[in-house]
Amino acid sequence: MHAEPRIWSYAATLLGSPILLKLFHDDPAVARRTFRLIKQLENLLTVNRTPSQVMDINLAAGRHPVTVSAPVFALIARAQAASLRPDSLFNFAIGPLVKRWKIGFRGDSVPPAAEIAALLPLTDPQRVVLDAASHTVWLPQAGMALDLGAIAKGYIADRVRDDLRQQQVDRALINLGGNVHTLGAGSDAGWSIGLKTPFAGPETLIGALQVRDRSVVTSGIYERWFEQDGRLWHHILDPKTGYPLDNELLSVTVISADSIDGDIWTTLLYGMGVERGLAALAQEPALEAIFVTRDRRVIPSSQRHYTFTLLDDSWQWLPVGY
Ligand code: AMP
Ligand code: MG
Repeated sequence: MHAEPRIWSYAATLLGSPILLKLFHDDPAVARRTFRLIKQLENLLTVNRTPSQVMDINLAAGRHPVTVSAPVFALIARAQAASLRPDSLFNFAIGPLVKRWKIGFRGDSVPPAAEIAALLPLTDPQRVVLDAASHTVWLPQAGMALDLGAIAKGYIADRVRDDLRQQQVDRALINLGGNVHTLGAGSDAGWSIGLKTPFAGPETLIGALQVRDRSVVTSGIYERWFEQDGRLWHHILDPKTGYPLDNELLSVTVISADSIDGDIWTTLLYGMGVERGLAALAQEPALEAIFVTRDRRVIPSSQRHYTFTLLDDSWQWLPVGY
């Protein structure tokens, strides 16, 4: 019998979430550098305060195009491409609605229907003008606003992974709150990552995934919400209606090599639902997903790069269709 390898954990609060870094050696300098990188990237991408390149774009809406850095331009171009897929739930121009709903922030309440109807035309992703030659982004009408909330953590998780690799760290885990990225394996079985029970305490798990060198991203309606008029209003909005999207899903988890793909696809799959989602994933061999439904089913698309342990048998693990 040999002892479990020792793991050092470092915590911070960034991106509005508790952030956790796990390493196999005690290295506060690596932790400080990682948290500083996350903070820098958050500052580039936030839509809640200046200075931020995305905030600059939003503040210039209806007035002039804004030049952004090459990586921010590339990220915005990815977000626009995801938004322009046929029937996409993902919409990077959804800012006006996100700001009006304020879901999960102080002052959240259900807006009057007329206000939502008036904001919808400001959220058309086709109207955002990107110029790849000059790296400019242009919102042609005042009131338009980008929101990269559904993609920023995935982008940042990949940058952290790359930065750790550059420092010769070959085994680590970074948890950005909903987005987990892993380097190497935490034990012979890999890194163990909890699949949360929706609307239960943070430690309550449906099951656990074991992965190595993979990103695990979860989008769930239990992450941010409020109650009004006996209903629950959550933070994943349907760009067609302007209201939270309600279907059979409580959460979607995507397992992928890069966290940005996971972050885009959790949103896309949430919009597709189980049946269309499984069909779409059949065309995307690099991506795997786990759907958690309101009727307590837990449905994986495939299981090539992870193993799963069910910890609560009031949920049904249903590896069907493959
Ligand atoms: P995630 O945590 O990746 O599921 O992203 C949720 C966040 O994305 C929300 O808090 C909003 O900031 C933003 N958002 C909400 N609805 C959409 C949507 N339909 N498309 C893109 N971003 C959205
Ligand atoms: Mg996302």
